[in-house]
Order: sequence, then C-alpha cells, then structure tokens
Amino acid sequence: MTGKVYKSTGSWYTVKTELGKAYECRIKGKFRIQGIKSTNPIAVGDIVDFDLETHNNEDTGVIHKIHDRKNVIVRKSVNLSKQTHVIASNLDMVFLMITINNPPTLTSFIDRFLVTAEAYSIKTILLFNKIDAYDKETLDEVRYLAHIYREIGYECIGVSAKTGKNVDKVKALMEGKVSMFSGHSGVGKSTLVNAIEPALNLKTKEISSQHMQGQHTTTFAEMYDLSFNASIVDTPGIKGFGVVDMDKEEVGDYFPEIFKLKQDCKFNNCLHVKEPKCAVKAALDNDEIAFSRYRSYLQIIEGEEEHYRTDNWDN
Ligand code: GDP
Ligand code: ZN
Repeated sequence: MTGKVYKSTGSWYTVKTELGKAYECRIKGKFRIQGIKSTNPIAVGDIVDFDLETHNNEDTGVIHKIHDRKNVIVRKSVNLSKQTHVIASNLDMVFLMITINNPPTLTSFIDRFLVTAEAYSIKTILLFNKIDAYDKETLDEVRYLAHIYREIGYECIGVSAKTGKNVDKVKALMEGKVSMFSGHSGVGKSTLVNAIEPALNLKTKEISSQHMQGQHTTTFAEMYDLSFNASIVDTPGIKGFGVVDMDKEEVGDYFPEIFKLKQDCKFNNCLHVKEPKCAVKAALDNDEIAFSRYRSYLQIIEGEEEHYRTDNWDN
C-alpha cells in the first residue's frame, strides 16, 4: 500500500492512504535516503510504501520504501552538529505572512526567507496581513513592497485575518495543495488559519521557540486535511526554516532578478559587488532592481552569521 505521512513520533508514523484510511506504521531495516544526511529517516509529507501486519486484530504497517521527495525543509539538529532534521517534505507552497508593524517584518527577513525557499524549491506566496489596521501611509508601504515582489515573480495578497478580507483568495490557492504558514510571531498565523478552518486548533501556540532553545527537543510537524480539499503542515515552535548552507556564488541564483541578469555580467563568476561591467549593478543604477533587495543580497553574501540561525527567525 502507498500513503502519505501525516505525523511522526520518531518511532511510529501515521500514514494515510488515498482513500483516507490512516495506519500506524513502523520502519523496517535501515533507510538510505537520497541526498541529505538526517537524524530522521521519514518526515511528514513523505510518500511511503508499506505492508500490513495484523497483531491482536489490529492492523499496523511496516514501511519499506520512501518515494523521492519533491523538496524538504530542514533544521539543524541541536545535539548532533552537521546532522539535519527533516521537518517536512513535499510542500507545494509556503505562505509568508508579513506585517508592516505590530510586529514589523523587515525586508532583510523577507529576502532571507525567500532565498531559503528558493534553495529548497518551495513556492512562496506573500501575505500582507492586518490591512484592516493600517493607515494610508502604511497601506502605501504594503503597495510598494507588493510591487517589488510581484515584479520579481512572487504572488502578493493583502489580507486581513481579522475581517476575513481576501481569505477566500488564500483558500482558493490552497485547494488541492499542501501548504504551510510562516512569519514572525504575532503576524497573525493562528488567526488566519482559524479564519480558514475554524474547527482546526493548531498547536503553533503551545510551544514557543524560546522554550525550544537549548533543549534537545525534536520538533515534530503534523499535517492536517482541511474541509475544502487542502492540507496544511503545522510546525510547532518553528516559524521559519533553517538556512541551507550555500556558497557566495550561489546566493544570486536565488534572487530571481539577479539570476536573470547574471549572464550579462562581464565575468561569469561575478558577485555583483565591485566587478566592472556588472549587469546587476547597472540595473540597480537604472532602478530596475530594488535597492532593499540588493542590500539583502549583500548582507547574505557578506554572511551575517547570526541571522542564519533558525533560533533567531522568530523574534
Ligand atoms: P501568530 O503568532 O502569527 O499566530 O499571530 P496571532 O494569530 O496570534 O495574532 C497576533 C495578534 O494579532 C492577535 O492579537 C490577533 O488578534 C492580531 N491579528 C491577527 N490578524 C489580524 C488582522 O488581520 N488584523 C488585526 N487588526 N489584528 C490581527
Ligand atoms: Zn555582476
């Protein structure tokens, strides 16, 4: 049988078949997963093959195969350096929730998030929340930011989790897909998810990331099916996702507007900093690239280490 992993306790996995029946499954033998070395062999979102075993009239499954993953989100394991923990796999998209104030979301945060999502091959949609509470000036800022991000290919929606404005648009995008909500604490993730599906009471609130810090706790994600043919992955205690280790040369590939121009630079290893005949710098001078985006790019290649740590994503 084939199914999708909805929940993991580390030794047991809840696997749901296409017909919607859930089985508790274990793993048999050692698993060798393509690509990454992780502390957990199977994660929420994985598609697995399993056989049924019957004990005392109860059917449990034994997983013997994991299908190739479309993508993964990981965090560095706290106790085993170099090892990663796969939080979830096969996400169709992540909604990054942004507020201009209460709390402010900085463009440097947005851009780091997008770079990571690009590196993970996960589609991101930007939701500007709390538009009901903004004055004209703040709404102008939303429009300005939405313009910058739309220009480079990201879908942007102004929403209000409180009044329900544009929540239907978010639901329409979620249909038939697996999504996740990210963003700083206080931007309105729980409120929005509640507006989308009132019956669902996510655990997001129960574990604060502060609580997690320094503890050798493993965070377990969980997937939920909603009433309108959509699924959501809840990641208690994780508001963003860990940054992929990347080379300086690679960073520009995850800025769509820089990636598009890099073949026009004189040097093919151009970092777009001080090199002559750089197409990116030229575009910046012509206002074809947003300065805030370029500034984020520089910050990332200059490696502000502390921003890279997942612990600092939620503040
Ligand atoms: P989370 O930490 O991202 O899950 O944020 P919450 O959903 O707990 O929301 C934080 C605060 O913002 C709460 O007091 C919410 O009532 C408020 N809030 C959430 N969405 C909106 C919104 O669209 N408009 C306004 N005015 N307040 C909101
Ligand atoms: Zn260049």
